[in-house]
Amino acid sequence: MLRLHPYRYHRPRELAGALELLKVHAGNVMPIAGGTDLMPNMKHRLFTPGHLVSLKGVEGLYGIEERDGEIWIGACESLTSVASAPLVKRYYPSLAFAASTIANPMIRNQGTIGGNLCLDTRCTYYNQTHFWRQALGFCLKRDGDVCHVVKGGTRCVAAHSADTPPVLITLGASADLASTEGTRTIGVEEFFTADGVWNTARKPHEVVTRVRLPKPPAGLRTSYQKLRERKSVDFPILSVALAVAMADTDTVASISLVVSGLGAKPRTIGQLDDIAAGRQLDAGIIEAVAEQAYRQCHPLANIIVDSDWRRAMVRVYVRRAFRDIQSKSEAAA
Ligand SMILES: Cc1cc2nc3c(=O)[nH]c(=O)nc-3n(C[C@H](O)[C@H](O)[C@H](O)COP(=O)(O)OP(=O)(O)OC[C@H]3O[C@@H](n4cnc5c(N)ncnc54)[C@H](O)[C@@H]3O)c2cc1C
Ligand code: SF4
Repeated sequence: MLRLHPYRYHRPRELAGALELLKVHAGNVMPIAGGTDLMPNMKHRLFTPGHLVSLKGVEGLYGIEERDGEIWIGACESLTSVASAPLVKRYYPSLAFAASTIANPMIRNQGTIGGNLCLDTRCTYYNQTHFWRQALGFCLKRDGDVCHVVKGGTRCVAAHSADTPPVLITLGASADLASTEGTRTIGVEEFFTADGVWNTARKPHEVVTRVRLPKPPAGLRTSYQKLRERKSVDFPILSVALAVAMADTDTVASISLVVSGLGAKPRTIGQLDDIAAGRQLDAGIIEAVAEQAYRQCHPLANIIVDSDWRRAMVRVYVRRAFRDIQSKSEAAA
């Protein structure tokens, strides 16, 4: 049986109290929301904080509402709420769908959108028990100084494996962060960094308080496609989020495409407007976009699935995302 280490559990009611606890115990404290990722990681001794500050009792971290022309989602809203909220389903169906693919119903009831944004990166050589990792001599993400994925590598390339962030990026979302020093807002795209040890711009004493989404332009077509080993209770081993803004019924205004589940940071595929803007969304454009994504994605062996196959699936999943938006708009016509 895997046991938890001893720690003190704090359950503040106010955000200010939570932020103060994170400051007072700096270096030996972590925030916890649903705990669906942090608890297993603590059992594996990947994190051993002496203090946990629960965010679940903080009232100000809830709510899904329309404010100042945006939709605000409180960081402690459960994945179930995000997947089923009428506002999310109406304006951002790809986000509702991405949330609905996470884990299983029990975990979605407990896990939160804030926790999903701050999810730790994953790797075959990391998400293991202490005993397992010790036998291998650990690795540079935790307790060691070598990388088993990139031999001689000095930077961790563990995979960003959360489902909602790629979609949030295609929707132009941002996140509000708070600490005792004040508040700031950061685009979800800029929130992530390419360092698998700590792949976000969030400082350890900062709390994500909400996610903010701009109202989508009329006719925005979106899709989320997730490759996983099983159809349920599985992290993505590749994910594709797509948002296509149309100038009119057939002509593309712009395309936002994010591929994730491969490296430490969700990858925004570049130079798509050169390919597609002002053109008709036909098979040639779709193929050119799929090829562009393939060229820009280079998965490494951070999970036990063949990297060449995962790369080949990038094209397939981009095509599927386009097929999905086309069939949805045909159904709506
Ligand atoms: C069996 C299983 C399957 C899973 N499958 C998937 C999957 O398919 N896709 C997927 O995306 N995830 C999956 N997960 C992971 C997890 O359930 C979700 O990512 C969930 O959204 C995490 O949210 P949480 O509130 O439980 O986070 P927690 O476990 O509470 O926290 C996760 C991390 O975020 C930090 N944190 C949490 N909230 C905040 C905040 N507001 N501000 C700052 N830091 C914060 C914590 O300190 C911790 O480092 C799975 C987990 C399990 C156990
Ligand atoms: S990518 Fe390398 S350093 Fe990062 S978790 Fe995996 S083995 Fe460790």
